[in-house]
Amino acid sequence: MAKSKTPLHLCFDRPVASQHTVAAAKIAISENKGNQPPPLVLGPGASSHPLSMALFTGKMWPSSGKTLGVRFLDGSKTQRKLAQKYANEWTQFANVTFKFNGGASSEIRISFQADPGSWSAVGTDCLVTGTFPKNQPTMNFGWLKDDTDPVEWRRVVVHEFGHALGAIHEHQNPKGGIQWNLPAVYATFSGPPNNWSKDEIDFNIVQKYSIDQLNATEYDPESIMLYSFPAQLIIGGVATANNTDLSDEDKKFIGTNYPKKGAAKPAKQSVAAAAAAPKLKSGQRVHPGFPKFA
Ligand SMILES: [Zn+2]
Repeated sequence: MAKSKTPLHLCFDRPVASQHTVAAAKIAISENKGNQPPPLVLGPGASSHPLSMALFTGKMWPSSGKTLGVRFLDGSKTQRKLAQKYANEWTQFANVTFKFNGGASSEIRISFQADPGSWSAVGTDCLVTGTFPKNQPTMNFGWLKDDTDPVEWRRVVVHEFGHALGAIHEHQNPKGGIQWNLPAVYATFSGPPNNWSKDEIDFNIVQKYSIDQLNATEYDPESIMLYSFPAQLIIGGVATANNTDLSDEDKKFIGTNYPKKGAAKPAKQSVAAAAAAPKLKSGQRVHPGFPKFA
């Protein structure tokens, strides 16, 4: 495909509001005990904030046979049809069913016009009504119109439904290999169409996820959860691929977390617990936000 001059259309994260972090963790663990965080390893002199456990909690739905209701809050017939079509790419590989037109109790609520962006709540965060009230979207497709290119439809819908199933951004994978050209990153995303503040750029692009949300896979440059970044934003100058469909690792990841009947048993540990227990050094303190473990 020819190089597109379209501005960078990037998904941004929709975390729960910080005051809902503990509630979100309780909901996540009641949905799937595997979301329980691993025990923190505290080095001498380190202390742990009461919120720390919440920050290390996973967000996956129950691992077997979960049906997730999906409700459209707006959108044309074509928009609804295309969203449904591409969302179901995941269900070929995951023991999850999307019940479209699932009514008022639907966990996933979709808008096409809440704002110009595309985003989704991550996994069980959909249930955190403090941040995502029942009459408001948990997912938005701001630039997908009836006549948008089908490949773009697939890229964006599969990506956002990956978040709804609990997947994180691949470019924020702590095992990721992207070395950002920071001045270029700040210059690019502080301008249109994103117009992000430095904090927003840090959150959406630069910061790697804390180990709690680590999906415990190696960095996958072909993941649908990785967005395409141009070469000038990356030290070494090699662009990330414009991934538009599920990679083999994506299929494996989702099949491990939501195994189909008859599939090999999932690893005993949860996604969260499968990650190495985070280690806190002397003087280091976990606090709400994104703890870094050097
Ligand atoms: Zn995203």
